[in-house]
Amino acid sequence: MLSFVYTALPMRVIFGSGTLVHMNRELAALKCHRALVLCTPGQQHQAQAIADQLGASCAGIFASAEMRTPVEVTHRALEKVTSVDADAVVSVGGGSTIGLSKAIALRTGLPQIVVPTTYAGSEVTPILGETVGGRKSTIRDHKVLPKVVLYDVDLTLTLPISLSLTSGINAIAHAAEALYAIDANPVVSAIAEAGIASLSRALPRIREMPTDRDARTDALLGAWTCGICLGSVAMALHHKLCHTLGGAFNLPHSQTHTALLPYTLAYNAVAAPDASRRIALALGVEDASRGVFDLLGRLGGLRALKDIGMPRGGIQLASELAVSSPYPNPAFVTREGVRCLLERAWDGQPPEENKTR
Ligand code: NAD
Repeated sequence: MLSFVYTALPMRVIFGSGTLVHMNRELAALKCHRALVLCTPGQQHQAQAIADQLGASCAGIFASAEMRTPVEVTHRALEKVTSVDADAVVSVGGGSTIGLSKAIALRTGLPQIVVPTTYAGSEVTPILGETVGGRKSTIRDHKVLPKVVLYDVDLTLTLPISLSLTSGINAIAHAAEALYAIDANPVVSAIAEAGIASLSRALPRIREMPTDRDARTDALLGAWTCGICLGSVAMALHHKLCHTLGGAFNLPHSQTHTALLPYTLAYNAVAAPDASRRIALALGVEDASRGVFDLLGRLGGLRALKDIGMPRGGIQLASELAVSSPYPNPAFVTREGVRCLLERAWDGQPPEENKTR
């Protein structure tokens, strides 16, 4: 009999084109008047536009967000929060900038308004990954959940094409794993299917024309729904393996997700037949893993681990690390199984079904 637990995450979402105009109203609704705006060095123009719009309600800009949320950067940002007497943080950017925003919220309790500009999904999760002394650890805490997410499609038009595609596949991975999560539920599963369908339709159009506003809208909508999946249910082999490879070999985030997804889906296909069927249906194909593999081909071949900095000699270590701390996954995670998966993924060969249940 159907039985499940569903925990809704409280947040306000504003979605559309030109939605940045609502920033002042949203900040005032939080009863805040001195926001510190966060961004990476490369997105200062977008942060400045927000600062200009906030006018007297902007306390300053901190433009040094970095990948993997190093605590040293967080400490510098916290000094800025104190020196400008900020009462809120506004972040504009991808998962890296939003990670910094969450790290500040965790330590200060300041409310956050986030403006996502990639499809990573961090804005709607209570998850924070931080790096201390080169080691990344992840926590789940509702204190890091933004109060307001302001999705403005216009800000995604500048996302470089390659990052747009890999970030979109990163989002699809959240939804795909949600469909076979140990704590899956019908609400999140329905959202997951919608997210996969939306992104798989949008990405080829974005590849054709990165400024296609309709395609960008579909992708951002898909990113939101896939992010909800990541924030709501437990992730398994795919996310754990990406985390392991990213940490051990310093691989880029969305590219690692992209290179692995066909193979992790193939690994779990036999053990999670219903999820595989639903993923395939959402993609509009016969087979989920082959469907993602072919989609990557159509998007311009973003497929092999060897092309994103993974050393061939690291496969053995990665397979050992992958089985060092067990977690729920549809198929048994064995060292040999992961080694075979990684060998195919390293070369970018077509995915092969794993017979383990
Ligand atoms: P990112 O935030 O690292 O951004 C990559 C680069 O693209 C940056 O230089 C950024 O400034 C630039 N960029 C982003 N949007 C742009 C735009 N619209 N126009 C021009 N340039 C733009 O990339 P990401 O993939 O979004 O985030 C990856 C990080 O997020 C990883 O550290 C990952 O662990 C984390 N993450 C966390 C969660 C979570 O729930 N905690 C979820 C997903 C990702």
